[in-house]
Amino acid sequence: MVAPGLNTAPNTARSEEYFARAAHATPGGVNSPVRAFSAVGGTPRFITSASGCTLTDVDGNTYVDLVCSWGPMILGHAHPAVVEAVQKAAAGGLSFGAPTVGEIELAEEIIDRVDPVSRLRLVNSGTEATMSAVRLARGFTGRSKIVKFSGCYHGHVDALLADAGSGVATLGLPTSPGVTGASAHDTLVLPYNDLAAVEAAFAEHGSDIAAVITEAAAGNMGAVAPIAGFNEGLRAVTARNDALLIMDEVMTGFRVSPAGYHGIDGVVGDLYTFGKVMSGGLPAAAFGGRADVMEHLAPTGPVYQAGTLSGNPVAVASGLATLRNATADVYATLDANADRVASMVSEALTAAGVPHRVQFSGNLFSFFFTDDDEPIVDYAGVKKTQTWRFAPFFHALLAGGVYAPPSAFEAWFVSAALDDAAFERIAAALPAAAAAAAAATAPGEGN
Ligand SMILES: *Cc1c(COP(=O)(O)O)cnc(C)c1O
Repeated sequence: MVAPGLNTAPNTARSEEYFARAAHATPGGVNSPVRAFSAVGGTPRFITSASGCTLTDVDGNTYVDLVCSWGPMILGHAHPAVVEAVQKAAAGGLSFGAPTVGEIELAEEIIDRVDPVSRLRLVNSGTEATMSAVRLARGFTGRSKIVKFSGCYHGHVDALLADAGSGVATLGLPTSPGVTGASAHDTLVLPYNDLAAVEAAFAEHGSDIAAVITEAAAGNMGAVAPIAGFNEGLRAVTARNDALLIMDEVMTGFRVSPAGYHGIDGVVGDLYTFGKVMSGGLPAAAFGGRADVMEHLAPTGPVYQAGTLSGNPVAVASGLATLRNATADVYATLDANADRVASMVSEALTAAGVPHRVQFSGNLFSFFFTDDDEPIVDYAGVKKTQTWRFAPFFHALLAGGVYAPPSAFEAWFVSAALDDAAFERIAAALPAAAAAAAAATAPGEGN
């Protein structure tokens, strides 16, 4: 049985018109590159509204949302408790530039959930969180170099763009013009999951390395979890060399467990960065960690960091309502929904004869088209996969009313709001999508 509302022949006339118009107002027509569908081609859908697990576009098409605003919407869209909290906060004034009680409550909620975090500062985006954490690590240690891993994305901070994942990977950029030699010079880029490379970097530069920054479990080159001992090894080598370990949990935080990936592997970082889920879809993010390190921030310490809208009362209300409604039941449902979607997709691909691997970073998951049976553990492995199968697969899903991430390098995000109709819709869309992936030909092959 076909779920109601299946877009058998999606009309995209209005999205096409808006995309053309947008390109005259905004570079590429979008405010964040991956939204432009560059990797998959076609017309990005202009969204008018969303509710629960469903997105509606300007042409009236509906989609089961497996992107969830790139992570934040774990409760589903327009969750009544979150909307109510936001409306109430907005009615009380949009911004004061002075402290509020909500900021304490949100910081305490996060500190309660993530043991190694005993001080927290709110910022406006994940990028700002990692930028500030890196500055603080340099200020605290008096050292300049930062170690990052290929394929990990930490926002568009100059020093962290080298060999980054997410949109940087999607667009195939080694780094970005506009990043000076000086800021790139202090960044050492190493292969993910390669502890020997980290040991070697410390042997050579140990006394210059302020911090290692890593995604607690990589999700921006697709889902590539740390292999056994990797995060523990980073903890040990940084501690031995008096460098800090920055766990970037902007994507994993409050999604993969109530305490993020820390709740799964228990590794203790010195600093943490959060975003996405913690603000429930409004612009807020945070960094936090050891009290002695965090107290180096102004006004208690010398490392400057500030923000006109930091701790914005409406964003804080959205974050608090989201976290308070993200109960143990919600996490169990997220895990179950992730498993169910991943299995459905994998079974459909298998039935169509498409060689692939499903990988998980907690309940983040992605599909790698490959004949290889070995787990993919780094960005070099990711880049070798048959990414040319992805665009036809993606577009067939979209035509079937299922909105997957528009890039082979992005993780899939479920919400707890997926319902029976959504699973029916996904099941109905999958055979054609798997067939499209099967029929795809490598560039230079076939016609
Ligand atoms: C999304 C993301 C960021 C950047 O957050 P923005 O809010 O987009 O600036 C940083 N680190 C990781 C791991 C992310 O997934």
